[in-house]
Amino acid sequence: MRNVMVLALSAALLAAWATEEPVDLRTVNRIKAEAFDNSKVMEHVFFLTDVNGPRLTGSPGIEGAAKWVINRLEEWGLTGAKMETWGPFGRGWSSTRFTAHLKAPQYAPLIGFARPWSPGTSGPISGEPVMAVIKTNADFEKFKGKLKGKIALLERPPSIVPIVAPPSRRFTETDLAGMFAAPDPGAAVVGLNPSAPGQPAPDREKARKFRNDLNKFLVDEGVMVAVYAGERDLGTVRATSAGSHESKDPVPPPSVAIAAEQYNRIARLIEKKIPVTVEFDIQAEFLPEKDSFNVVGEIPGSSKKDEVVMLGAHMDSWTGGTGATDNAAGSAVMMEAIRILKALNLNMPRTVRIALWTGEEQGMLGSKAYVKSHFADPEVMSPKPEHAKLAGYFNIDNGTGKIRGVYLQGND
Ligand SMILES: [Zn+2]
Repeated sequence: MRNVMVLALSAALLAAWATEEPVDLRTVNRIKAEAFDNSKVMEHVFFLTDVNGPRLTGSPGIEGAAKWVINRLEEWGLTGAKMETWGPFGRGWSSTRFTAHLKAPQYAPLIGFARPWSPGTSGPISGEPVMAVIKTNADFEKFKGKLKGKIALLERPPSIVPIVAPPSRRFTETDLAGMFAAPDPGAAVVGLNPSAPGQPAPDREKARKFRNDLNKFLVDEGVMVAVYAGERDLGTVRATSAGSHESKDPVPPPSVAIAAEQYNRIARLIEKKIPVTVEFDIQAEFLPEKDSFNVVGEIPGSSKKDEVVMLGAHMDSWTGGTGATDNAAGSAVMMEAIRILKALNLNMPRTVRIALWTGEEQGMLGSKAYVKSHFADPEVMSPKPEHAKLAGYFNIDNGTGKIRGVYLQGND
């Protein structure tokens, strides 16, 4: 599948120049042959995910992955492979142990993990879970003085319904036509969500303020552990930040996500007033404030070497899995595309540069910093000289599957 993605990307690159330069079909065929017969794309995914693990920005995992990428780019003969720092990012975070158990009324191991930027527990701690569904600042009053030493379940039990449709399906031609007819982004960029055309953008600032207020409230009230339901079912746990990478924001209490089915079991026991005990043991630590980085490297061009075509993807992830689809897949495809271009020793007029971003999951921080330092400060929109030399940028952050179109995400 990913071979096809590389092919589609290469074809897209060539197609973009087709109006000005003739398509060299012999070269296209050589690219296809290297992609299909000598693919290394799954090896890139293996090292990014299975070997380097989760790649949270500011964690040891992303540094290890970045060093591995740089070694590969150098090995392939790219020029200037390096970490290009940006910042400040804030505090890093690392978790090295997590266990969770239901101890009463019956024993069961719990599936879960510490949410990023959660503190640890200083050894195993057990206690009584209570429901404390807090969704707005107005809810604080209801729980004031009631949560000391408790394990607080902070969400309504999610509804879990039988899966009756295939978990994934191929877009129909009608689906694709609908996406093609998305609203004019010129009118829609401000206040609309570029990843879901027509939908309002989530109010991140409001959500962030509430998270900070909630974390402060939970710590002030003496909550022992904050428990959230993983957003998925079938034992898959998904969760994002417990707290923040920014030191000015309050540190939450130890904070975990557990499998939704198990969260719901505990909630049902609480509702029926059956005594429940759960135990958590979390080792997690905040790391000193540090800048982050993007990983870059390039193949210098020939006659138009100061013009640049960029390939990019974000290599950072969350921590519950290994970030395979979001976005080791895109990173591996871009690595494979540039490996192929270099391996074929093509005479490319323009420089081709790869950039693997970090900080994407915290608000596209790495790519925004790159744009600001190389192309233009969006605040003033005064383009820098490099801006005029950028011939094009191709990004993948769409998971797996064949590329059947190009999302412009409000940029056309
Ligand atoms: Zn992503």
